[in-house]
Amino acid sequence: MDPTGATAGKAVQDAYQDGNVLAGPLSEIFAVDLTAAVSRCAHCGSTGPVAALRVYGHAPSLVARCPHCGEVVLRIVRAPGNAWLDMRGTVALAVPLDTD
Ligand SMILES: [Zn+2]
Repeated sequence: MDPTGATAGKAVQDAYQDGNVLAGPLSEIFAVDLTAAVSRCAHCGSTGPVAALRVYGHAPSLVARCPHCGEVVLRIVRAPGNAWLDMRGTVALAVPLDTD
C-alpha cells in the first residue's frame, strides 16, 4: 500500500495507447489515414508507422511518443474551432497514397 498515491500516479502516467487512437483526431485534419504513414523521429532517427507511436492522454489533448526513445513525436490539441498539430518531433512523414 502506498499512502502517498505516488505509485498509482506513476501507473497512470505510464499508461498509453498505440497510435491508432490518433485516427479520429487526424481524420478531422487530413483526407488520408495518417496512422498508416511512416514517421521519422527527430530525436533518434528511427522510423515506423504512426500507429506504432505511444499515445498518452485523452482527446482533445494527445501526446504521441516514439516507442524507441520516448521523446515526443507529435501533439494534437483540439480546441473549439481549431486543431493544433505540433510536429516538431517529426523529421519526415511518408504518407501512402493510392496510385490509380
Ligand atoms: Zn525516437
